[in-house]
Amino acid sequence: MLIVPEREIADLMTREAAFEAVEKVFAAMAAGDAYNFPVVREAIGHEDALYGFKGGFDRAGLTLGLKAGGYWPNNLEKRSIINHQSTVFLFDPDTGKAKAMVGGNLLTALRTAAASSVSIKHLARDDAKVIGMIGAGHQATFQLRAALEQRAFEKVIGWNFHPEMLPNIATVAEEAGLPFEAVELDGMRGADVILSITSSFAPILGADQVSPGCHIACMGTDTKGKQEVEAALLSRATVFTDEVAQSVSIGEAQHAIAEGLIAESDISQVGAVINGTHPGRQSADEITLFDGTGVGLQDLAVAAAVVDLAVAKGIAIEVEF
Ligand code: NAD
Repeated sequence: MLIVPEREIADLMTREAAFEAVEKVFAAMAAGDAYNFPVVREAIGHEDALYGFKGGFDRAGLTLGLKAGGYWPNNLEKRSIINHQSTVFLFDPDTGKAKAMVGGNLLTALRTAAASSVSIKHLARDDAKVIGMIGAGHQATFQLRAALEQRAFEKVIGWNFHPEMLPNIATVAEEAGLPFEAVELDGMRGADVILSITSSFAPILGADQVSPGCHIACMGTDTKGKQEVEAALLSRATVFTDEVAQSVSIGEAQHAIAEGLIAESDISQVGAVINGTHPGRQSADEITLFDGTGVGLQDLAVAAAVVDLAVAKGIAIEVEF
């Protein structure tokens, strides 16, 4: 079995490689070549942690496995380690033997950022200039860095429940040479793309705080009960997701579905847009919304790519198992 420790990931994996792996696996999912297993995610009643498993099988790429891990909200304050902790396990689909164990923390951030980036590439208006961030935690910085590569953005605006965290994203904007402005939520009407990545359990962005033509990527809601935008926004928007089953159960769409505002059949896979079987955005005034729930196949795709890179560079640790 091969081991690729967390400490090696930063030097191996790039944003570009993560984007490519995620775009490809979203396309494979929509084509029926890859599927995700039902997600297990539990509040374990210890350290307020959410822990679970996300797995799947990509028949085209022959990638089988799972990511185990979750979210420990007290990590940063108590232990100075990031709140999101995970490990990816890959198995040989021919034999079932364990093939690789890969540090999943940085990969999670990169694959999650790649997902919203893929949605921006395929759904945002080409002339998008202003990007609005809701959230300023660990993932937000990765999200913004990746998103800025998708369009010729000229300005970053941001809102966060904890305003003292806004410098995290202001720094990313500054690194990219872009001005940053902290705004009230009403200010999000000035955004062409909005990215939300928070751990909120109540709607933040109102349905009327979004302008026509905007693309919104809701990335924080990955558990039952979480919510980042008012449910009515989903009925104003054309809704896309990574995986419809997750979108309606643990994603942002769970609330609009429960309230009867949209039906499951109103939600399309972004992979269908990538494959050209869904037209995607059809007008400059259309609001598009990507419900990024985070699928196991994303994790497996980036982990498999990193294992290949680690083997090629002689960094992978081989153990008898
Ligand atoms: P973090 O702890 O570093 O940051 C949390 C963010 O949420 C901060 O912006 C914080 O101000 C905000 N927040 C906290 N409490 C809030 C509240 N009550 N109302 C509104 N905002 C609040 O976490 P992170 O690592 O940046 O992760 C953010 C979220 O993204 C988590 O909920 C995590 O589960 C989710 N996530 C989703 C995916 C996916 O694939 N969709 C992948 C990874 C993480």
